[in-house]
Amino acid sequence: GVRPLIAGNWKMHGTLAEATALASGVAAGATEKAELLVCPPFPHLVPVAEALRGKAVALGAQDCHAAAKGAHTGDVAAAMLKDLGAAYVILGHSERRADHGESDAAVKAKAEAALAAGLVPVVCVGESEAQRLSGEAEAVVAGQLAGSLPEGFAAAGGVVAYEPVWAIGTGRTPTEDDIAAMHARIRAELEKAFGEAGKTLRILYGGSVKPSNAKGILALPHVDGALVGGASLKAEDFLGIAAAL
Ligand code: 13P
Repeated sequence: GVRPLIAGNWKMHGTLAEATALASGVAAGATEKAELLVCPPFPHLVPVAEALRGKAVALGAQDCHAAAKGAHTGDVAAAMLKDLGAAYVILGHSERRADHGESDAAVKAKAEAALAAGLVPVVCVGESEAQRLSGEAEAVVAGQLAGSLPEGFAAAGGVVAYEPVWAIGTGRTPTEDDIAAMHARIRAELEKAFGEAGKTLRILYGGSVKPSNAKGILALPHVDGALVGGASLKAEDFLGIAAAL
């Protein structure tokens, strides 16, 4: 099978000193079983890249701009991320969709920019609680995938992260049956879009993953890893999730 990916989304947390210490702590526990990825806030990327030099932990960012360069004050180009040593970029996280009004089309444009720069996009999708309750969850996610994934996504080994919005930072998760059903649906959509290549793309689950629930979630079919928020801020917890594989 595919090598699982355990990714930490540090969001807007921590000091510079905390970021480099966390990166070193994660690197000290790197394992063969999974690829580990940490995604610090922009100002911490370069020092974390230095802390990870020669270590078996990949580096990613939490966003990039859709343009290759230009007059976009406050934004960051994919090539800048690649240049400092990032391999991945999280795109279309629900917090960016909410805070910055990012549409599927905007996410797709960013993913195209990431691919052009040689970064692997980690494209996030997921339904709201109202959508889950009204039985629309799978249709919503299928629509987000259709709108957000560019051509070339599969060839570059793109990653999809399923993060139900209502499970993020709440301590609540879908049932294991619901996670498995959604991941099977995502796999089917990836195969529909990309054929054979869609069979091996990694599909991560995200939303209140912690060491105590990781084993059950990571054992589900078509769950190829996790995208971890809160529990990625302590090396022990993050490594505990990887150890559940
Ligand atoms: P939590 O693990 O804190 O629920 O966050 C999940 C997430 O949004 C990762 O991108």
